[in-house]
Amino acid sequence: MLVEEPIHKAYLNKLVGEEGVRIVENIPADEITDEHLAELTGINLNTVRRTLYLLYEHRLAIYRRKRDPDSGWLTYLWQLCPGNFDKALESEAKRLVRKLDERLVYERDNIFYACTEGCARFVFDEASEANFTCPFCQSPLEYMENSKVVETIEKQIKELSSCV
Ligand SMILES: [Zn+2]
Repeated sequence: MLVEEPIHKAYLNKLVGEEGVRIVENIPADEITDEHLAELTGINLNTVRRTLYLLYEHRLAIYRRKRDPDSGWLTYLWQLCPGNFDKALESEAKRLVRKLDERLVYERDNIFYACTEGCARFVFDEASEANFTCPFCQSPLEYMENSKVVETIEKQIKELSSCV
């Protein structure tokens, strides 16, 4: 399967990495065994298996077992579920929106101070406990406006919500 949609590719890349994308792109329309897939891609069998199970967990692939009548060995035949890609993306977007919502509340409910050397950012209580001095480099901590951060998060939520 060729992953043409850039958004699908980006999602896959995040889920299974670059090698994983290569594996997905080598899965034919019909079934294939993990061993054959490893041969085709030159990627080691463990990575192929890990990738396939990750896809399976996200309902992007299915497998069926077949027993070799002679040897009794089990073979796993894998197949992609390309129809589930949009669904998977949707639930990923929902998950991100939930996280961003939490972050937004945190940003709105707190006052922030940051190290003038850029080490870290602290909420008011932490900054006050540290006497407004950076615990890492002893530079002063200064009040930090976060309306830009809030704006950015709001924009991200809006964008993600529109594709859910
Ligand atoms: Zn510092």
